[in-house]
Amino acid sequence: MTKKMKKSELRQFEKRLIEERKKLLKELEYEGEQIAKTQLETSGDLSAYSNHMADQGTETERREVTSQILSSRSEALSEIDMALQKINHDKYGFCENCYKAIGKRRLKFIPQARLCIKCSNELKR
Ligand SMILES: [Zn+2]
Repeated sequence: MTKKMKKSELRQFEKRLIEERKKLLKELEYEGEQIAKTQLETSGDLSAYSNHMADQGTETERREVTSQILSSRSEALSEIDMALQKINHDKYGFCENCYKAIGKRRLKFIPQARLCIKCSNELKR
């Protein structure tokens, strides 16, 4: 393994991850409320205009988009959780694929990055 990060640097990343986590949780909460509202509206709509196919289509689409947003948010959340665990276990900042240190510039951009730039580009292909 390559050289480890300084404790002070680690703390900075930890702080950023915790802040990011809070933000995501808030957004998830908000979107959950929006979905609950939409579902209430939809059930109201359905009784008012039964068999309105066009409306149902857009509604399904809208719900799909919302659930996609939600799942990408919860994915990001679990990645942040994993990164925080790695900080606790002194394994933060290393690529999960090649075990080399992930560049600090990359970590500053994506603190929850699990792969180094090289591996992430290779695995995308
Ligand atoms: Zn790598």
